[in-house]
Order: sequence, then structure tokens, then C-alpha cells
Amino acid sequence: MRYRQFGTTGKQVSVISFGGMRFIEPKDLDKSADILLYAHSKGINYFDTAPIYCGDRSEDIFGHALRQLPRNSFYVASKCSRDNGDDLRKSLERSLKRLGVEQIDFFYIWHLMNLQDWDKRKAGGAIEAALKAQEEGLIGHLCCSSHMDGEDLAVVLKEDIFAGVLLGYNALNFPYRRHAVEQAGKLKLGVVTMNPLGGGLIPQNPERFDFLKTVATDTVVSAALRFNLSHPDVTTALVGFTNHQEIDQAVAAATDFAPINQSQQQELFKQIEASFDDLCTGCGYCLPCPVNIPIPKYLDSYNQLILNGGDRQAVLNRYRMHWNITPQQAKECVRCGACEERCTQHLPIMDRLAELP
Ligand code: SF4
Ligand code: SF4
Repeated sequence: MRYRQFGTTGKQVSVISFGGMRFIEPKDLDKSADILLYAHSKGINYFDTAPIYCGDRSEDIFGHALRQLPRNSFYVASKCSRDNGDDLRKSLERSLKRLGVEQIDFFYIWHLMNLQDWDKRKAGGAIEAALKAQEEGLIGHLCCSSHMDGEDLAVVLKEDIFAGVLLGYNALNFPYRRHAVEQAGKLKLGVVTMNPLGGGLIPQNPERFDFLKTVATDTVVSAALRFNLSHPDVTTALVGFTNHQEIDQAVAAATDFAPINQSQQQELFKQIEASFDDLCTGCGYCLPCPVNIPIPKYLDSYNQLILNGGDRQAVLNRYRMHWNITPQQAKECVRCGACEERCTQHLPIMDRLAELP
């Protein structure tokens, strides 16, 4: 396993980290904890969970596993999305209890969607409460998780509150996300990337992502992780593991890791843009919309329809779990056509919005 320093914290974290959002049998504590313990035995030392993951079982599973490990052999991360300071405090205390630790090493202000959302977290007292908990030693480092574009995220990060940021970055969404990653890198923050495998879409569509392979022995999983970790500002790629085999594959990719160089990366960028001509890349050039539809979020959800063979439930899950949007807003499109004129992929946005569940 390879390790990188998390921003300026002095902590060395494994370049592959464990995301606790995909346990298949979350009610079975021993079986689920075994996956985490296996990851730890392979050198993974950064473990990320949150309340509500896996029917609100993930933190308990983590606690069950982490109590079996020396405290100085892992870092644990959890999160809270509440605006209100008292609510955040209660959530933090519950997380500490479930995880069986005295300090959460990396605690995330969770799921920042836009600058209005950021203002609400501040006005509601959540940031103040988190900083107080950090002073008390209940939180090691305060971080945030964000679905914002690079410019808005820069505004938040420049307030100099956070030690790191968690954001989605993968072969599908890099045009939209790489500016945010670079922004965090410039500020010397730890950068944790979620969804490095496109929420499972990359391994599920190996032919489509075959061009990511730059080494003969590559699998599409190792290639996608290499793509992610080759960004010089990425500290660790967070993978939601479900079994030992997936851990072995990811660990092998990190162990054999040879970063792709700048010119290979540029070449891949070009190929990705050319190969995904029917997919939304999340670039955001279609905005603004006169009725404020967050078009990239809906079109990203439509990607699930294309890549998951028309599975409408996958789209609904994406709305709820990833973007926190509802089906209704997509139907408010007044078909002005402005977004389609600006779309870099020339996508039929209006028809896609109408077709979405
Ligand atoms: S066509 Fe619909 S989605 Fe596109 S900008 Fe106009 S109202 Fe918004
Ligand atoms: S709909 Fe087009 S312009 Fe908008 S984010 Fe997707 S690819 Fe970019």
C-alpha cells in the first residue's frame, strides 16, 4: 500500500480508503466488520462512514470492527449534514459512541450543495459547533464534503476552516470536478475522492471504459483508480467495498501504481470526452437555467439510465442518495432551449428531462 500526507495535517493515509456505504448484509455485524478488518490487514488505514449509510448500520459496523484494532493503526471519518449547531453536536456524540472512539479523526460538514447551503450551515451554528468540538478534541480535523463546482467550492475553502475536502472525481465527471480538486490542492488541503469507480458504473461497463487502460495488465478497475490517483492533488480514493476480492483488486492497483504522466493524462482526457458523446460529463456549461433546474444533476442521473440498461430505480436512487433532488423539478422545464445551445456534448437535454422518472 502507498500512503500520502493528508494536506498539512501530518497524517499519512493510504491512497485507497474504505467507504462504508456498500455493506451487503449490514445487519450481520461480524460479516460486515470482517470486510473492514480485511481492508485494514491489507494496509488500508482510512475508514469513512456516516450516519444513515446502510440503513443507519454503517457506524455500528465500524465500531464493531475498530474496537478490535489498535487505535493508532487507523483513521476514522464520519459526517453530519445538519444546519443547527445543537443537532450537529448530538449527531457527533452519537457517532463517537457508535464508533467507540474518543475522537473522530476527520469529521465532515457533509453534502454542501451550493453557497446558500454553506451560508445556512454557518447561520444555523453547525460550523461553530464543529469548531468547538475540534477545540475540545472530539474532532481531529474538520473537513467538508462537496458537490459544488470549483468556483463556489473555492469560496468556501478560502475561509480557511477545513483541513480537507471530499468530492466526486472519476473518469465520467472529471471535466466538472478537476477544477475543484486543483483548487483544494492549491490550498494544500487533503483531497479525498468519492466515487472513483463512478458509483460502480465503471466496473459494470468494462468495454466502454476499456480505453482507460494504459498498462497491459490493467483491469478497468485498476485503470480507473490509476486515473484518479494520477491527479497530483488527490490524497486518497474512497472505494465502497463489498467483499475481499474488490479490496484485493484495489490494493493491487495502488501497489503496482505508476502514475500516468501529464501528456498521457491529456490524451485520456481527450479520449474520454470523445468516447462519452452520449453522456453528460457534468461540466455545467448548460447553466444557468431560467427556472433554476440543476441540469447537470438531472443529466448525470440520466447517465444511470444509459449505463444501467434503462434501470429507472437507479435514477431515483441517484436523485435521493447522491444529489438530494426530487423528480418534480425536472418537469418544470419550459423548453426555452438555452441549455441545449450551450451543451458541450450537444445532448437533447429537454427530451432527457422529460423522459426522466
Ligand atoms: S430548456 Fe428547460 S432546462 Fe434548459 S434552460 Fe430552458 S428551462 Fe432550463
Ligand atoms: S448537460 Fe451538457 S453542458 Fe450540461 S453538464 Fe451535461 S454535458 Fe455539460
